Amino acid sequence: MRVSLSLRCAILALGMLCLSSGSLRAQQTIEGISFELARLFDRHSAALLLVDADTGEILRANGAASEFYGYPPAELEKLRIDDLNAQSPDELEHELALAAREQRDHLVYRHRLANGDVRSVELRNSAMRWAGRKTLIFVVTDISERVELSAALARLKNQSEATIAYQVDQIRESSRLIEIGLGSIALAALALVFYLWIGRRRLLRAEADLREEKQRLDNVVRVTDIGTWELSVDTGELVVNERFLSLTGLQKESREPKTLADIAELVHEDDVEKIHAALIENLKGVSEYIDDELRIAHSDGHWIWLQLHGGVVRRDSSGRALLLAGAMRDVTSRKSRKDHLYQLANYDSLTGLPNRTALLERLRTAMEATHENGQQLAIAFIDLDDFKPVNERYGHIIGDEILISIGKRMLGVMRECDTVARLGGDEFVALINDVGDESEAQGLFKRLLQAASEPVAIGKHRIHLNASMGTTRYPQAHSLDADQLLRQADQAMYDAKNSGKNRIRSFDVGSLETASHRRRAVSAVLEAIDARELCLHYQPKVNMRSGELIGVEALLRWQHPERGLLLPGEFLPFLDSAADITRLGEWVLQEALEQCSRWIRDGFPCPVSVNIDVLQFKRPDFTTRLSDLLGNYPGVPEGFLELEILETGALEEDVLASGALRRCREMGLRISLDDFGTGFSSLSYLKSVPAETLKIDRSFVMSMLTDPNDLSIIQGVLGLAQAFNRECIAEGVESEEHGKLLLRLGCELGQGFAIAKALPASELRDWHQSWRAPDSWTRALPIPREEHLVLYAEVEMRNWRELIGAYLEGGGPPPFTARSTTGLGGWLKGTAARALRGEPEVLELHRCHNSITMLLGDLQKTPMPRATDEIYEALRDQCNKAEDELGRLVERNAFMALGSRLRLVSKRHAS
Ligand code: C2E
Ligand code: CA
Ligand code: CA
Repeated sequence: MRVSLSLRCAILALGMLCLSSGSLRAQQTIEGISFELARLFDRHSAALLLVDADTGEILRANGAASEFYGYPPAELEKLRIDDLNAQSPDELEHELALAAREQRDHLVYRHRLANGDVRSVELRNSAMRWAGRKTLIFVVTDISERVELSAALARLKNQSEATIAYQVDQIRESSRLIEIGLGSIALAALALVFYLWIGRRRLLRAEADLREEKQRLDNVVRVTDIGTWELSVDTGELVVNERFLSLTGLQKESREPKTLADIAELVHEDDVEKIHAALIENLKGVSEYIDDELRIAHSDGHWIWLQLHGGVVRRDSSGRALLLAGAMRDVTSRKSRKDHLYQLANYDSLTGLPNRTALLERLRTAMEATHENGQQLAIAFIDLDDFKPVNERYGHIIGDEILISIGKRMLGVMRECDTVARLGGDEFVALINDVGDESEAQGLFKRLLQAASEPVAIGKHRIHLNASMGTTRYPQAHSLDADQLLRQADQAMYDAKNSGKNRIRSFDVGSLETASHRRRAVSAVLEAIDARELCLHYQPKVNMRSGELIGVEALLRWQHPERGLLLPGEFLPFLDSAADITRLGEWVLQEALEQCSRWIRDGFPCPVSVNIDVLQFKRPDFTTRLSDLLGNYPGVPEGFLELEILETGALEEDVLASGALRRCREMGLRISLDDFGTGFSSLSYLKSVPAETLKIDRSFVMSMLTDPNDLSIIQGVLGLAQAFNRECIAEGVESEEHGKLLLRLGCELGQGFAIAKALPASELRDWHQSWRAPDSWTRALPIPREEHLVLYAEVEMRNWRELIGAYLEGGGPPPFTARSTTGLGGWLKGTAARALRGEPEVLELHRCHNSITMLLGDLQKTPMPRATDEIYEALRDQCNKAEDELGRLVERNAFMALGSRLRLVSKRHAS
């Protein structure tokens, strides 16, 4: 500091020291600073330095100054005030000019303390004469904290800008994916924009506000759940906020990362390279932002997925990056939801084996590979014999156990490179790569069949099932696709069934016998059309709440002269050529249109949906033939014919691209994706299919009451339908309970035995006149999506009760000894249950949950089966009771009242 400079802007009035000691001034001249004055100087709480105005020497320093600078007074008095400076002459000059411009009565400098720390100080001075010398008394105030606060705010502003860009990206992405929290993210971004606006204006205000501002911004950052970070390029210094620490779990270990390296060591090794590359690109200015996802090791030992968004926020004049800032968000749950959707799309939820979609995908790849490696592959189609009666006798829980363990066993006899898939029901398919010669292949098939036929021990039962197997090989003389290959194996399996079950039949491409058998079966079906033995039955689809009939589904039946009424499953599988399938399909379309126009003429307008086999749909002339057909029925209005396209046969890209679906829509047809949930290939598939309706497969609906997994699939499909703005209908509504639960989940449209079975056309109107939706359906209000946990809790309790029942009565496997937490507990911890705290059911549920937790604990401690049984009985009672209480709470629509209560709370919070 050049003293002459500081003098220029110093105020010449008497210093505070003199002012505060007015009484002394009367007795003593300023010239001879008295003992009292010296004492006052020394003991003053402010840091004071008496400095020679000409030389800058420190003539005297008081105790507070000595304490602040960390030098004994005698040491300080050996220094010149310049020696304390930590800034360059240019910087000092700049501050002087600034102070003059702002007409300030003080200067802000950076002083170095004895320990090397640099602090921001505010200097005010007063001139006085002392011992004949021109002196200045400096009052030194440490304002480092204030300065840091300003800097922090500026920094947070930078970060906020990055955060907003990040949020906007998030919102975009959310509309692509099914982000439920969309509204709250948009709100958070708005809150930030708004906050910034205010923030800028307040920046100019007094520093007391600064602290508050920072707090507020912290709050916004906190509620948006975003970790922020800032990285200095030169020093490598990293500054993160608290949320960042809690996201990564570092808070718990009070391990604050100080440099980039501290974080880099936590990044998953597979992600290091891409993040590094993104960083370099951004530093070079090639990319505007870094936007990537990476895994970080949480201090608890698991991986979390973070979405990283940010980039360079400051560069020097040459464009060199100086500062990066950005935000981090935990996207682990979205990731796992994505994984979950992938899982749903490709794996069977019961056995965890690949499903039809995944099998076909693998089969296609394997078929292609055979052309390159010259090997042969085989497919074995396995169907359990008489599984249905076993399922009926022991219940579907045991049935499921059997399927799971048979699946596992078959997997056990296969090699790693092979696949065992479950197509649904009791149908499995094994895909065997590189089968080798015929005897080798036969050996493997036998082992597979044996694996499927060994008795399964479940609890006290030993259940013995056999299986029938059909096999085929690839390549063959004629080209064929994966679907056709699978159908060959399927057909061979039917052969095995027809020739007495529990055996293996190969589809012998060359064998006249199989071919002629197939031909016989096919021509029998085709002849049935001409013989007028085929007919359509119609199953009503209704709005379950209003009871309104919204349409019917045409289902094929064969009134066989000898075998009676046959269901489609008994004869449709024989048809495997596109020509035959189309022949039958067109008959069905025509018959359905005929019936529809008949109903319209009779004053009973009723939309009809028809099942379309993908092979028919894929024919190039499908839409023109359909259009010709529609031309014959001008009385059928738009929207009265719907095509149900089997989703498991996932349409291939070329079909989607062909625009056939779009043309159908243009012709006024409605499209629905049948069996939805059993095997859609991707979200983009759903996006590109112009279908109005998703039909939730009956397999999920039928078991939703007791299977939380199926419930969550249904919830997922409903979420998808909502996100993509599609209608949803549930098939397989077998009971009043099914309908109630669907309505609560927000699914209003249903089809199933609880409403009506497929009826002959002549019986439909009578049914319509007499059918009313059950009262319980009319009353059941949808529960807000955020509160669906209560439905899960109820399903879980029912599931447990059944599992325990099966164990106690029939000797099912001992259920869940290792389980310790319940969905019920989760729900009770949530806001909804807290808001309903006073309700009698909730009180009772708390009691039940406590007992259940205790009983589960007892279960783990008790090795004796007798005592275990008693615990299980008590547990079953509690589950039963909890199920009842939950049912009551849901039944009286407590959640509706709760909705307004929660809204009230949040409004109060906001104002
Ligand atoms: P889908 O398209 O899934 O048809 C619904 C099936 O579920 C019908 O079986 C129906 O009777 C049955 N269902 C309806 N509600 C319930 C319920 O509450 N519980 C149970 N357990 N089942 C219920 P259906 O008539 O045996 O038809 C089986 C499949 O045959 C159909 O499944 C469809 O894929 C195919 N299909 C039927 N008619 C035709 C047709 O005209 N053309 C083509 N290509 N396929 C058809
Ligand atoms: Ca259907
Ligand atoms: Ca279906």
